[in-house]
Amino acid sequence: MTATLLERRYKTLGPYSPLFYDEPLEFVAAHDVWLTDARGEQYLDAYNNVPQVGHCHPRIIAAMADQAGRLNIHTRYLNNHVVDYAEQLLGTFPPELNRVLFTNSGSEANDLAFRMVRQATGASGVLVSDFSYHGHTSYLAGLTTGLRTGEALAAEVRPIRIPDMDRTTLSEADLLAASFAEVDAAIESLDRAGYGLAGFLFDSLFSTEGLNTLPAGYITGVIDRVHAAGGLVVADEVQSGFGRTGTHFWGHQRIGAAPDFVTLGKPMGNGHPIGGVVTSSEMLDHFGPHNNYFNTFAGTPVSAVVGSTVLSILQDEQLPQKATILGASIKESLEKLRAEYPFIGPIKGTGLFFGFEVFDDEARQTPSAGRTKQLVEAMKRNHVLISRIGRDDSVLKIRPPLAFRSEHADRLLDALKISLKEV
Ligand code: PMP
Repeated sequence: MTATLLERRYKTLGPYSPLFYDEPLEFVAAHDVWLTDARGEQYLDAYNNVPQVGHCHPRIIAAMADQAGRLNIHTRYLNNHVVDYAEQLLGTFPPELNRVLFTNSGSEANDLAFRMVRQATGASGVLVSDFSYHGHTSYLAGLTTGLRTGEALAAEVRPIRIPDMDRTTLSEADLLAASFAEVDAAIESLDRAGYGLAGFLFDSLFSTEGLNTLPAGYITGVIDRVHAAGGLVVADEVQSGFGRTGTHFWGHQRIGAAPDFVTLGKPMGNGHPIGGVVTSSEMLDHFGPHNNYFNTFAGTPVSAVVGSTVLSILQDEQLPQKATILGASIKESLEKLRAEYPFIGPIKGTGLFFGFEVFDDEARQTPSAGRTKQLVEAMKRNHVLISRIGRDDSVLKIRPPLAFRSEHADRLLDALKISLKEV
């Protein structure tokens, strides 16, 4: 059945859109942190961050169905649910970030944020990590450095290397100085080329890059430089937001960043497509009067009640607080495993987004994409879903729904112990 479905998929969607695993999984149902495949087998979800509060959460299903049965319409009419949600969402930000524009996806959010950034600054130059992904619009394809795209890097983009304390022989101070020198040179080069600096875009967890361990003061130092050059800062919270890091509701807060824009997506609607750009009234005033921004499906009453229910569940079930505790205990267990397996590199991540680099050799010198892939496949055979990231595809990506509990962590770790023996 799965084989036939795969063939039909190729004949309709084509063979190029990515599928996980050598033999793709076909899921038919989900609940909480569990997925059921077409043969009726259950898999523990330690990968998906979109169902942040758990798959098919009954409160979300009820709220969505109820609102869909009453009214769903675009934002050119007044509706209390939309404003209630905007207030609730902005309540999770500091007072200066006090305006939100709704979108349908993370890509739309980043694209819109950069329209606003370019119009506010009158400049077009962009600093972005040299191994990152922020979305699939034509504009964002021109600044994609971490995935294959048919577009060339746009002329006004300067990729910068995000430092990683786990991947350097330099001292923290030297790494910081070298990284700042690279940022200064990139800003100067944009100036010389006549683009000027519009903005800096970063993922607050540097997940595509492989969960970098930043030298202290890196992000604040870059932000100071960007602001001094007249640029603006966009924190992409599509992966790191909504309590993912545990200790902070927004990932940029954990690294001490004060961005001008924050972009939202994935977990915002727990699977329902909503995204957003959060900014200040001042930034919106640069953009609003000159642009008739309207987005048919974005911020409808159904989206608003879904988004609001996600926020309420995160709070009522204290999921970020639990993510802090469980994430710390999982990292401790991973440290123990690291002591047993010399090919395991430093344990990375925070809250419920963690992993470790996998090496070929015991000296932990050569990152191993091959062994990492084998581990991901072995975990699948043990019915646990994870993935891999990083510039060498050698960092395990473990990022379960925040509904993950200690019994699930035990199951994850048991599967990992078995899988490590297999590779
Ligand atoms: N930013 C980041 C950090 C992402 O991980 C992604 C999606 N992987 C996006 C933006 C784009 O979001 P979407 O797929 O919802 O357009």
